[in-house]
Amino acid sequence: MIKDYGSQKELRAFYDFCIVGGGPAGITLALHLAGSGWRVVLLEGGGHEYSENSQSLYKCPSTGLDVYAEETRLRYLGGTSNHWAGRCRPFEPSDFSVGPPVHLPGWPIAFSEIERNLPAAMDILDLPPHAGFKAMNATLDGADFEADRFLLSPPTRFAQKYAKELNETEGLDVFINCNCVDLEFDSKTGRIGTIVVSDYQLHRERVTAGQFILATGAIENARQLLNSESLVAGGIVSKDGFVGRCFMEHLNVDLGTFILKDGQDGDSRQYFTTDAFVKEHGSGKGNVTASLVSEVKTYGRMAAIKTFFENLVCEVGGEQKIEFITRFDCPGDGVLGTLIEQFPNPDSRVSLLEDRDALGMRKTTIHWELSPADRNTIKSIGLEVAKCFAETGLGFVRLEECVYDASLPLKVSPHAHHMGTTRMATSPEFGVVDENCKVFGVENLHVAGSSVFATGGASNPTMPLLQLTLRLADYLNHQTGPVVGRYS
Ligand SMILES: Cc1cc2nc3c(=O)[nH]c(=O)nc-3n(C[C@H](O)[C@H](O)[C@H](O)COP(=O)(O)OP(=O)(O)OC[C@H]3O[C@@H](n4cnc5c(N)ncnc54)[C@H](O)[C@@H]3O)c2cc1C
Repeated sequence: MIKDYGSQKELRAFYDFCIVGGGPAGITLALHLAGSGWRVVLLEGGGHEYSENSQSLYKCPSTGLDVYAEETRLRYLGGTSNHWAGRCRPFEPSDFSVGPPVHLPGWPIAFSEIERNLPAAMDILDLPPHAGFKAMNATLDGADFEADRFLLSPPTRFAQKYAKELNETEGLDVFINCNCVDLEFDSKTGRIGTIVVSDYQLHRERVTAGQFILATGAIENARQLLNSESLVAGGIVSKDGFVGRCFMEHLNVDLGTFILKDGQDGDSRQYFTTDAFVKEHGSGKGNVTASLVSEVKTYGRMAAIKTFFENLVCEVGGEQKIEFITRFDCPGDGVLGTLIEQFPNPDSRVSLLEDRDALGMRKTTIHWELSPADRNTIKSIGLEVAKCFAETGLGFVRLEECVYDASLPLKVSPHAHHMGTTRMATSPEFGVVDENCKVFGVENLHVAGSSVFATGGASNPTMPLLQLTLRLADYLNHQTGPVVGRYS
């Protein structure tokens, strides 16, 4: 049943599982655990719709590159799925078998651990079960770049799709406008005993559960841990530890422009690096999208002329007469965009500011930067794609100088894919959660979402994070712990 914590303070005395965050990860986990007969509470900080008092808690300035953390995330039931784009690309075996070329290990689990939950994750995202992830266009040059393969979710809006289940699943309480503001760690038992929640009138209450799961997105998962004074006092979270570090994005780099040769068909295409390419260049993976300027209006040889005529229309009118000119494109002109893997780098990190938000939690800041290894990936992909365009007779590429000259600042923007801030590892020396997404040093605290990604590959994160969430649901469901008791 969905209740508004602002007016309905009806928490039970004890839950088997307490899940914080009602986005794709939290909703998926809550429905699976409650569906198995456990008493579950799902705490969502926002309401049914966007509201300023909730969204303003996401204020998070960046240093280094801009992450746009407040503008891109959404803080209400359904989370960022309320406006995600729905592009789904599965992780590959090499994402798990090949570690990053930096001084950090890759995934500590095998590809099969996530692969087995692919059909269920596809079902959640309304992807046709037998569609397969097929190539959308011809390959560029099979040795270096193959055609990318992905599927588009409708896109699934979690709050709408699962409204009925959230309301009707027995044993599940969902509270909206219910913000987690503290995790209370008992160092004698090594457990989280309670968490503290608050409404927007600052009414606070404790929630007691056997197991707690953070599912508040990659920035907030780290923030929750860093904010907990008892976790800091207990030595679980420290300034020098991994919580908040290794923040990763997918890099949207403006590589440059291209002109297709006469006779080449004019559809936009998407390419993806082969494993052989990655091995040869010691680089990360990457998608390169070659879009024609007829679809992207701000680039290409016609851009200046179009802007001139558009301004003319505004100033002197005559729209119909010159409309044909503003609509005209140089056939075959295009721009190269990317979705490129970024390697884990401890210096890219979420950390706390001294300032507090309206609910009394310390605010966060993100420092996001590119490492030399990332610049190598971008340069390798840029140079090689330009070479392949020429060698295969597809056309010509004019690369931005900053792609191959690392001394120049790069034109890069984020994809709003936040990952890595509570990374999975075999020990606290290299991460925050273990192979079962359990926080090192705490018996009953787990993390769901892309913050646990050890590496991010170049696949969109939502489907893989759901595969891992389903794996976590299985683990929590089957593990036998002394404080976990059956609901019925
Ligand atoms: C514009 C855009 C396009 C995107 N397109 C794609 C795409 O095409 N493909 C793809 O794979 N991914 C895409 N993404 C990323 C995708 O949205 C995320 O991967 C996904 O939403 C993460 O799910 P989550 O449940 O981990 O976190 P979120 O969706 O961030 O949900 C977290 C939830 O926790 C709640 N919360 C936060 N703090 C608290 C608190 N203290 N107490 C209680 N509740 C709290 C929030 O209100 C929210 O509901 C896109 C993102 C953006 C912004």
